[in-house]
Amino acid sequence: MSEQRIRAALQEATDTHNVNIGAGALASVPDVFRANFGDRPPVVVADGNTLEVAGKEVQRRLEEAGYTTLEPYVFPAEPPLYAEYSNIEKLRDCLKGHDAIPVAVGSGTLNDIVKRSSHECERPYMCVGTAASMDGYTAFGASIEKDGLKQTLSCPAPRAVVADLEVLRHAPEDMTASGYADLLGKVTSGADWLIADSLEVEKIDPAGWSLVQDHLREWTDSPAELRAGDQQATEDLIEGLILSGLGMQSYESSRTASGAEHQFSHLWEMEGLGHGEGHKGTPLSHGFKVGVGSVAIAALYELILERDLADLDIETLRNSWPTKEEMEQSVRVQHTSPDLEEGAVEQTLAKYISVDELAERLELLREVWSGLRAKVREQLRPAEQIREMLQAAGCPTGPVEIGLGWEDFEATYFKAQTIRKRYTVLDLAFETGILGECVDELFAPEGFWGRVAASRATADGAGL
Ligand SMILES: [Zn+2]
Repeated sequence: MSEQRIRAALQEATDTHNVNIGAGALASVPDVFRANFGDRPPVVVADGNTLEVAGKEVQRRLEEAGYTTLEPYVFPAEPPLYAEYSNIEKLRDCLKGHDAIPVAVGSGTLNDIVKRSSHECERPYMCVGTAASMDGYTAFGASIEKDGLKQTLSCPAPRAVVADLEVLRHAPEDMTASGYADLLGKVTSGADWLIADSLEVEKIDPAGWSLVQDHLREWTDSPAELRAGDQQATEDLIEGLILSGLGMQSYESSRTASGAEHQFSHLWEMEGLGHGEGHKGTPLSHGFKVGVGSVAIAALYELILERDLADLDIETLRNSWPTKEEMEQSVRVQHTSPDLEEGAVEQTLAKYISVDELAERLELLREVWSGLRAKVREQLRPAEQIREMLQAAGCPTGPVEIGLGWEDFEATYFKAQTIRKRYTVLDLAFETGILGECVDELFAPEGFWGRVAASRATADGAGL
């Protein structure tokens, strides 16, 4: 079943020609390599850990198939590899010394480094995934820290991806849990696209939508089994992550896989949350931040969906709509880091609309609200359920577990809206004038986060 879906998905993809997922799939590396690169020499790129779990076997299999391989390029195992530009320069300079095709053996960071380095040498590459930890394997672009800022540097996705379920099942459990949280985040990102579509901000692309959303429930329904290392649950997860990446590739945007829950994650990332320490001595993963963001956004959605937005008082909202200058000012006071502040101003002003455009959009919202509300309800899951699923998979589910204070967490609902121009539920709540009151409700003693905070305090008080 999985094979058929992937074959169909590859028809939509522009960069990736082959994906092979399966138990024992490492054995297919030489064939997949030959189908894409013929007799060109390969060079394995790994880090100290991934060299052991799969890199040496990949190297051996390529040699047995008659390839003259180069000595593997190996980043140190410790400290954990960080996606910073200096690593790309090092690898790129080495790649320039020969014409071998890089075979990245690793997960998110390693794949991103090889993706961008290969691109800078104008060379295609292939990837052997070692953990179902994020959806970036088949996505274009690499998330890299350059000049002190995490940014997405453009570069094509790998020509081919191989993922051996035996390797993935034995990956560190936090990595698998992170991938699960990244995938579950598509629940809220899908809802955001439904809103942007209905308000004619960004039309849904049926192919990009289907790749990510059609099987999402099936892929995410067995978090406890996944945590226990079940092969089917692992296959479902990696299939979901790979297809999500192909969805971004086909639509040429991360809209297909990323909404407000990712804006929470990006903000925390840019503010430096969990760099270098975090969970068990490794930096806080992308997926873990997205997971907490998903719970936060699902809880916000619940409050918004209780309201009747067909009843909006457009005149009042018109009168309180900020001018462009006021908007800029309100963004500036929210951010403390100068780089983040400049970036947020740029992104916010890029989606600024005039008061007449606001009125038009709100008129449209009033018309479409009942249909849109029904569609969004069908797309979403209750916040409590998302929290339980994440917990079952071994993911953090609230701010304290990721080292974030309650006040900073509450402020995220406002700040996250400013850092990306992509239209999400945060924009809907802001434009309809209900963001502040919804956030107040969430953090009130009886609200979603108020109750979570109270139950934590009780647990702490009881010494649990
Ligand atoms: Zn993601």
